Amino acid sequence: MLTETDKYNVVQAPPGVEGSGFFATSLDKAVGLARKNSLWPLPFATSCCGIEFMATMASTYDLGRFGAERLSFSPRQADLLMVMGTIAKKMGPILRQVYEQMAEPKWVLSMGACASSGGIFDTYSVLQGIDRIIPVDVYIPGCPPRPEQVIDGILRIQDLVGKESLRRRNTPEYKALLAQYGIE
Ligand code: SF4
Repeated sequence: MLTETDKYNVVQAPPGVEGSGFFATSLDKAVGLARKNSLWPLPFATSCCGIEFMATMASTYDLGRFGAERLSFSPRQADLLMVMGTIAKKMGPILRQVYEQMAEPKWVLSMGACASSGGIFDTYSVLQGIDRIIPVDVYIPGCPPRPEQVIDGILRIQDLVGKESLRRRNTPEYKALLAQYGIE
């Protein structure tokens, strides 16, 4: 029996397509389901965290189980930028260029202390967090994070991807977020 609240949330199926054998969903949810289970990561690995990522891809942890088996080293054919390792300030413009070359929709995962905050390298030459130059969706803590943590980060990204509205990338809020980084 529907409650008063349900009556406003549930859309009744039109005649002829109700009952068993039919289900109704929204385009947002169908596209979100497809996107979240077919991520194409671009591994931007610069140091030791990258090795831990290799372990995550290998047979024991097997990231392919989550639909993210196909790694891309071309930004045009990737939708998840995974930054792992120490990012020197000199490398900042390259990382940003890679991000800008990726087509929308795209997501960013920052793996490990170095990528997220500079880690132990509080020096003049190391970027103190990639979120100073590009927006980040999920951070994975640790030095290095274990493969289980990497998988947890991927699951969180999948959660975001699956729930993202198709309209989000055209909203003023998203444009304002990019504008903060000087990205049009
Ligand atoms: S967080 Fe630790 S393991 Fe990862 S790149 Fe930095 S120093 Fe290496």
